[in-house]
Amino acid sequence: MNSFSIPVSRRDFVKMAGLAAAGALVGGGTPRVAKASEGADGDIVEYAERKVPVLYDMDVCVVGGGPAGTAAAVSAARGGALTVLVERGVALGGLAVLGCVYPFMDTLAPDSDTPYVAEVKERLRAHGVEPYDGVTGQTWHNPETLALIYDEMCEEAGVNVLYQTVLVDVLRSGAAVTACIVQTIAGLGAIRAKVFIDGTGDAFLSRAADVPYEQGYEKTGSNQPLSFRFEMGGIDVKRVYKYVAVDLKEDWCKSKPPYYEIAEAMHRKQRYKLEAFMAKGVESGELTQEEAEYMQAYTIIGKNGVMSMNCPEIPVRFRASDPLSYSKAVVFGRKMMRHIADYLIRHMPGFEHAYISREAAMLGARESWRIRGKYYLVEDDYHNQSRFPDAVCRTAWFIDAHGEKVSEKLPKGAFYEIPYRSLVNDQVSNLITAGRCISASFILQASMRIQPTCMSIGEAAGVAAAWGLENGLEPNEVRWEDIPKEKRSYVSAG
Ligand SMILES: Cc1cc2nc3c(=O)[nH]c(=O)nc-3n(C[C@H](O)[C@H](O)[C@H](O)COP(=O)(O)OP(=O)(O)OC[C@H]3O[C@@H](n4cnc5c(N)ncnc54)[C@H](O)[C@@H]3O)c2cc1C
Repeated sequence: MNSFSIPVSRRDFVKMAGLAAAGALVGGGTPRVAKASEGADGDIVEYAERKVPVLYDMDVCVVGGGPAGTAAAVSAARGGALTVLVERGVALGGLAVLGCVYPFMDTLAPDSDTPYVAEVKERLRAHGVEPYDGVTGQTWHNPETLALIYDEMCEEAGVNVLYQTVLVDVLRSGAAVTACIVQTIAGLGAIRAKVFIDGTGDAFLSRAADVPYEQGYEKTGSNQPLSFRFEMGGIDVKRVYKYVAVDLKEDWCKSKPPYYEIAEAMHRKQRYKLEAFMAKGVESGELTQEEAEYMQAYTIIGKNGVMSMNCPEIPVRFRASDPLSYSKAVVFGRKMMRHIADYLIRHMPGFEHAYISREAAMLGARESWRIRGKYYLVEDDYHNQSRFPDAVCRTAWFIDAHGEKVSEKLPKGAFYEIPYRSLVNDQVSNLITAGRCISASFILQASMRIQPTCMSIGEAAGVAAAWGLENGLEPNEVRWEDIPKEKRSYVSAG
């Protein structure tokens, strides 16, 4: 017998659902859930001269449970597809949870919330986390609550989540991916599915399937800078507010505690009042120039006295797409983190009793690999406020290419759209790529990568996967505009 719990073909599922209805399965649950069971003896695939047990035989396999992948899995399951979600960590949310990246930025586009995004915000509220500060458009959440909400959403929709499981490779037949090879806590396994969705952020599944890709900025060859985010506890936020907003008269943060943010970005010459405060650390030898150049901290709703630190920003000589360089960035970044934390504890009013309460479980990669799909989004799409018949969402977050010249921002109320064709490609028929690694140039990606936009893209990927299955169409044959309007998560403003 295989040593894993292994669902199931649709036929077996129907059999099991019948048993559940008859009360034969403990904890029957929602009918779409493919219940864990032993796989049939001998149900294996050949991989690297090994016999690998088939863990799941599903409609949709989503790899990567970040903002995009989780949205994709929930909406595919809600669309009627038997769905498995593979995540290498022990929480869903990707950078938002494992990477301590907080809060959801405002898309700056009017009415951009697709139903899934609106629902996540509602669920935060239902869990006692009020996401709106009443002033800014960003969504203040709480990473632990968000992880809980994602578990709940997956459970309710019937998504089978496979935690601590890493995609290793794919098997292909002709133009289609037939299976993912994954490393679980028990060893190698295979997941067969009709449709695959890449939510890895790093286009890992797409690259493994030989979809063309690129990485970094074509002008410099560098990726966007990595960050090693963390949280600090034991902070007297009211004292921080008094020092920054009252004594230093820093007024760019319009909200007040418990929704409060401090920042300086010396290398971007944005003239924050805290620049001089951080520069003193360089003069005294407590901070390096690189450590002093970028510091930002947000309060976290529901975690009194804790701030989410959007720093250190690791120099771009460390690469998000080079495993050795990435590993060195972890060590280098951890030292930077300690120096910044110690400096704040020694000198920032309100941080006297603070401490590092949490380190991110993954480095913050703003950009690594991006696919080349049927449509390649470029900077002009931003400035021209492009509209597409197959648009899956709208956004207007500015081109936030750290270290690179920031181009003109769109006027208030303006936005561009993201076409479904930037999620699919000509090489692999049954693959959809969602999130920060869709088909977009380095500069355009610097705008579209924010979490709400990635969630809307993932949601659309799930809708398209389920609708395609229902209508006998491969994902790269689906025309988003042919999906009935009431089933689409977004309809172009055209
Ligand atoms: C430092 C930093 C600050 C940012 N600030 C903000 C901000 O304030 N607000 C905002 O809205 N956005 C912000 N962003 C952008 C945003 O967080 C990301 O672009 C967004 O999370 C991308 O979502 P995603 O789902 O595409 O990928 P990710 O969030 O990267 O999620 C990918 C998931 O896939 C999993 N995975 C990867 N490879 C495998 C594999 N082989 N097998 C199994 N699982 C795998 C990972 O564990 C992860 O859970 C920031 C990003 C960074 C790095």
